[in-house]
Amino acid sequence: MTPVLPIEQLPAAAAADRACPHCKGEGYVVEAQAELAVARVCACVPACARCGGLGQITALVDGQVRSGRCACQRVPDRVARFNIARVPGRYAEATLATFMKGAMEWNEQKKQQAAAAAMTWLKGWRPGEGARGLVLHGLVGRGKTHLLIALIRELVFRHAVTVRFLEFSRLLATLREGYSEGRSDSPILRELATVEVLAIDELGKGRLTDWELQVIDDVVSRRYNSSACTLGTTNFRPGVATGAAPPNAAMVDQTPQTLGDRVGDRVYSRLREMADFVEVGGADCRELLRGPGR
Ligand SMILES: [Zn+2]
Ligand SMILES: [Zn+2]
Repeated sequence: MTPVLPIEQLPAAAAADRACPHCKGEGYVVEAQAELAVARVCACVPACARCGGLGQITALVDGQVRSGRCACQRVPDRVARFNIARVPGRYAEATLATFMKGAMEWNEQKKQQAAAAAMTWLKGWRPGEGARGLVLHGLVGRGKTHLLIALIRELVFRHAVTVRFLEFSRLLATLREGYSEGRSDSPILRELATVEVLAIDELGKGRLTDWELQVIDDVVSRRYNSSACTLGTTNFRPGVATGAAPPNAAMVDQTPQTLGDRVGDRVYSRLREMADFVEVGGADCRELLRGPGR
């Protein structure tokens, strides 16, 4: 049997190369693989001399034999968390840095303000029940989902949070598929109720039939009742129901409807209680990407 060494005498745990051009010393990279953004440990991270690749170490700490996870497991743990968040592949590059870079290059002050507000929210974020959420609202194409995914990355890779990203329309499709195959919706809804942070993209989108409204009410109520942290984006402005008519194709950018009109006042008021609302304004990113003279 190998003797148990004092912890100071163990070799250093494997770490990323600070000069690595692929991961910039973070130890992981995120790439689009078909529909999903998939994270993996960067090739610059060497085999771990501390744990011999086992992920576990046993050492003497203050004269006592202690076992625990090796520090080299930090990155693979977070990579695994990112991959269960199910971030769409088209957002593989979405980070706070890329959002801010665009906002600065385009001289888009409203986007810079939104990023600053998101960073302030992130700084104040604490794990556990009662963690306040964030809803990003603004017109179509302003970068709300980019900013939402950037926050998910920060929560996962900096704070080791378990997050689930959810496109609302995708959830409805999955539930419908389940019903037609005679499956119950409860395991899916239970997962959404219990995940540490749930990020719902496109709140209020869709045809919003009675059933769809019931699903959104169910998901938000469960999060509300367990004081769980919920993030979201919406194209609709904050406000209680006004009774305005639904938008038509000609006015996607100027919808008279509020979020209350879309999801009902009960869901809206719960969201207000659970989350801060931040506007992501400025010009349409797709127009900005096309450049001057558009
Ligand atoms: Zn690397
Ligand atoms: Zn190790």
